Order: sequence, then structure tokens, then C-alpha cells
Amino acid sequence: AVPGNIVLHVADVFKNFGGLKALSDIDLQVEEGTTHAIIGPNGAGKSTLLNVIIGRLPPTSGAVVFDGNVLTGMAPHEINQLGISRVFQTPEIFADLSVLNNVMAPAFARRDGAFRVNMFRAVMDEAEIRAEAEGLLREFGLYARREDHAGALSRGDKRRLELAMCLIQRPRLLLLDEPTAGMSRHDTNTTIELLKSIKSRGMTIVIIEHDMHVVFSLADRISVLAQGRLIASGPPQQVKDDPRVKEAYLGV
Ligand code: ADP
Ligand code: MG
Repeated sequence: AVPGNIVLHVADVFKNFGGLKALSDIDLQVEEGTTHAIIGPNGAGKSTLLNVIIGRLPPTSGAVVFDGNVLTGMAPHEINQLGISRVFQTPEIFADLSVLNNVMAPAFARRDGAFRVNMFRAVMDEAEIRAEAEGLLREFGLYARREDHAGALSRGDKRRLELAMCLIQRPRLLLLDEPTAGMSRHDTNTTIELLKSIKSRGMTIVIIEHDMHVVFSLADRISVLAQGRLIASGPPQQVKDDPRVKEAYLGV
């Protein structure tokens, strides 16, 4: 990671749903190797912003630039191939596949896609992918469950499985939409420790999160969305003390 390098730039993005202004004039820069949290009340536009970044929703105007590439107009799989992986608010796993196969599947997809667009010289073989998947499952406390159907996992384990499915793609940017939503305090703490470890390896992370304990444990920078607008952005302590944020969101 190059310090100070802006890896993601959301440039003057607007997104309307009919008459509803879900995002208005969003300008956001994410530095490589940092964790950037996006917070805000329900309906503020957080998931919409994430969906615009990954190409699931076209912006009404504005652009998203990742690592010098303008993403606007690209398909989600093309954006994924450039190195952006995401975890959604609701886990998207293959319930009938084993836990291990779930982790291996995205690596095959990435490898074959990369081969097609000739981006990566190194092509991993199946044994390498299996070894990497098993390593991730050990780290994530899921190794003992590797032959079970993924659908049988607890909610917290499913979310950690999805995180492993992202990491095996070796992304340059990890996007997380409320990764601890619905988790017990214990599960939340386990996930915070995992994310800290991922962060410490230099991963760039954008995390949408409701839980302030999670946000303040991980974030280097916080941006606050309210009614589709960015009302504050800065280091955690500064944002915490911002009167507009207290009024709009923290309710203190
Ligand atoms: P958050 O993730 O911050 O809770 P969302 O991005 O999900 O907020 O939603 C922002 C606003 O946009 C909400 O008013 C929501 O109802 C609306 N919205 C989100 N997705 C759609 C959609 N596909 N069609 C119409 N309205 C939507
Ligand atoms: Mg949301």
C-alpha cells in the first residue's frame, strides 16, 4: 500500500429513485490501506452508495474511480475483476454447497475470469486454491465445519464464511455492508478481531456499520450520511464531536 494513495474516489455522485433523492452530491476519497466507515441512520443511502460503487446500480450522475479506472458503466463482474469484493447486508452464499466449496468457488471464478481478460500471469491450480481456502477457514474458526452444507451454519458463521469468500479473491478493496448486523455481542467481537487482522495486513476497507463499537474499533476515517447527503467526514474523534453528527445521528 502506498500511503496517501487514493484508491477509491466517489466523485459528485447523485442517485435518484424516481422522485426520491437517495444520494446527493456524494464526494468521497478512500486512502489505500485505511479503513473508512460510512455511518448514518436507516434509509440514509448507505447501501445505495455501496451498490453504486460495485456497479449494481448506475448513478444518476457522477462517477466512481477505482485505481485510475472509471467504473461507471462497467458490469459488477468486471468491477470485481479489478479487485473490489463486497459482503452484503444479507449473506449470499451457496447453501447447498459445502463450506469449503463455498470458499473455493470465487477463487475459480476469479482465476478463470482473470485468465479470460489476461490480467494475471499467475494462474492458481486447484491444490493451491484448496490450501488457501483451508487456511482461511482455520483463521475464521470454520475449519471443523468445512464439509458441512453452508446453509447449516449459524448467522454469524455465514457472515464470516462470506468474508472468507471475499478474501480468497485477494481483493484490493473490501466493501462490507453491516458485517455484524444481527450478531450477538460475542459474535460481533470475534468479527471485529478478524477484521482487525485483515486490516493489519494492509487491506483497504470500506465498512457500512450501525454498531458504534465496531466503527470506533476499526475506522481510520468516518463519513456520515444523512438523507442522502454527506454531513461530515474525518477522523473518528472529530466526527464524534461534530455537533451536526450528534444531532443527526448519534442522538446525544
Ligand atoms: P441505508 O442502507 O442507509 O439504510 P438505502 O441505501 O437502503 O439506505 O436506502 C436509501 C433510500 O433509498 C431509502 O429511502 C430507500 O427506501 C430508497 N431505496 C433504496 N433502494 C431503492 C430502490 N431499488 N428503489 C427505490 N427506492 C430505493
Ligand atoms: Mg443498508
